[in-house]
Amino acid sequence: MDQERIAQLAAVQCAIAACVRCVDAGFLAEANPIFRGHAAHRNMIVGQAPGPRAHLSGVPWSGASGTLLRKWFAGAGFDPDHFLNDWYFTSLTKCFPGKAKHGAGDRAPSAAERALCRTHLDAEIALVRPQLVVTLGRLAADALIPGARSMTLRGLVGSSFTVDLGYGLVTLVPLPHPSGVGRWLNDPANRALVDRGLAHVATFRGDEGR
Ligand code: SF4
Repeated sequence: MDQERIAQLAAVQCAIAACVRCVDAGFLAEANPIFRGHAAHRNMIVGQAPGPRAHLSGVPWSGASGTLLRKWFAGAGFDPDHFLNDWYFTSLTKCFPGKAKHGAGDRAPSAAERALCRTHLDAEIALVRPQLVVTLGRLAADALIPGARSMTLRGLVGSSFTVDLGYGLVTLVPLPHPSGVGRWLNDPANRALVDRGLAHVATFRGDEGR
C-alpha cells in the first residue's frame, strides 16, 4: 500500500470532518459529515446525502434505506455482516440536508451544496482509486457517469459503465436510491433492472480490500 496515498486520504478525511462550508454559505444549520472507509478499499458507494439516522449515529446507511441496500447486496452475494467494512462509503454531500419541506423523505441537496462538496468527493475518489463505484440515485449517477443526464433511470439501471476517473478505467454501476419514498421500485420491471445492476456488482465480490 502506498503510504503517501494513505496519508493524503487521512488528511482529506480530516478536512471533510472539519468542513463547515454549507453552514458558512447558509445552507445548513449544522455540519456533520458522514463517510467511512480507507485507502485499501477497492469498491465505493456514492450516495446522495446521509439520512437522519446516519446523522445521529455517525454510521452511513443506518436507516431504512440502508436496510434495503444491505438486502440488495446480500442478494448479490456480499456478506451483510461485513457490509460496513467492505465498502468505502461517501456521498455527493456528506451532511444531512434535513427533511423535505413538502412530502415525505429528506431534502435533496441543492446544486450549490453539491458543488461545495464536490471537491471532497473528487479527492476521495482520486485517493481511494476504487475499481468499482456504485452510484445510488439519479443525482449520483448524473455526477459521475458521462451522458447520464440524457438517460432515463430505466436506461441507466441494469447497465455498467466504464469510465476514466483520472487514475484508470473504473466500472460504474448505477442503482436507484434505496429509499422507500419513490414509487420507482414498486414496478417489477424496474426491480428486475436493479437485479441486473446487482449482477454487475456481484462480479467484484471477493475483492473488497477489507
Ligand atoms: S455537505 Fe459537504 S461541503 Fe457541505 S458542510 Fe458538509 S462536508 Fe462540507
